[in-house]
Amino acid sequence: MKTRFYTHPICREHLTPPGHPERPDRLRVIVDRLDDEPFAYLDRREAPLGEEAAVLLAHPRQHLDKVKAAIPEEGLARIDEDTTVSPKSFEAALTAVGGATAAVDDVFSGEAGNVFVAARPPGHHAEKTRAMGFCLFNNAAIAARHAQRAHGVERVAIVDWDVHHGNGTQDIFWDDPSVLYCSTHQMPLYPGGGAREETGAGNIVNAPLAPGSGSDAFRQAFDTLVLPAVERFAPDLIIISAGFDAHRRDPLAEINLEAEDFDWATGKLMDKADRLSQGRLVSLLEGGYDLQGLAVSVAAHVGRLMKG
Ligand SMILES: [Zn+2]
Repeated sequence: MKTRFYTHPICREHLTPPGHPERPDRLRVIVDRLDDEPFAYLDRREAPLGEEAAVLLAHPRQHLDKVKAAIPEEGLARIDEDTTVSPKSFEAALTAVGGATAAVDDVFSGEAGNVFVAARPPGHHAEKTRAMGFCLFNNAAIAARHAQRAHGVERVAIVDWDVHHGNGTQDIFWDDPSVLYCSTHQMPLYPGGGAREETGAGNIVNAPLAPGSGSDAFRQAFDTLVLPAVERFAPDLIIISAGFDAHRRDPLAEINLEAEDFDWATGKLMDKADRLSQGRLVSLLEGGYDLQGLAVSVAAHVGRLMKG
């Protein structure tokens, strides 16, 4: 079955201040790279605009209204120290949500074997009631809830290999054993949490990595913590919070992964999805701030997804 790829030009119109790492060029290099010949059979689609009702699967109305009210008519407006919005940011964020929910629909309908969504703003730092860390709405959390509501499944696993801890996803599912949240991340690092002891209702698995860690530590964390947790949980769907800022070139962290590590981790999760989730796998872009590191890592990730 085919690998589907969603993105949308509106996601490049979510603007951030000059010098900000979470910038429109990130999507440009991904789209350029996936235009290369090895990806000729990628099923490319425009991400649809998501519905506000989908946002409300993971956030209260008050949060959605607050984000909407922060959108400026021109220029930039600041939500917190790192998080800004521009006139098109709300539409971009709803498109990131729309891509995520469409991806879930596709793997349940059988339209696609697996799906990668390259949208921005990213989502995993967005808590129930707080936009932060470049994130407005939690796309992965919304996708998980959408799978439960629209497709009637019980258990969804979210595996987050972004180099930062996904505090938002952890916050949203802290007391919800129907969603497994597993994260590898550098610690200490923004946003500060993600210790092994943070286990929620037994559904949170944090695998922190020391600064300077590389492939061995990452793969060991995956093999000993993440993959066994996914196996025990037996999810109906696996969602990847696919940040690529653990790549060695990334300027925001000190983890030294190579593109091959993302290929490897993707393959491991595809094996689990094949055994446990009827192959259903949805991958959503989170971070990744060195354009070259991002492009080679996404190419490795999507290349593996396409191998089926
Ligand atoms: Zn990150």
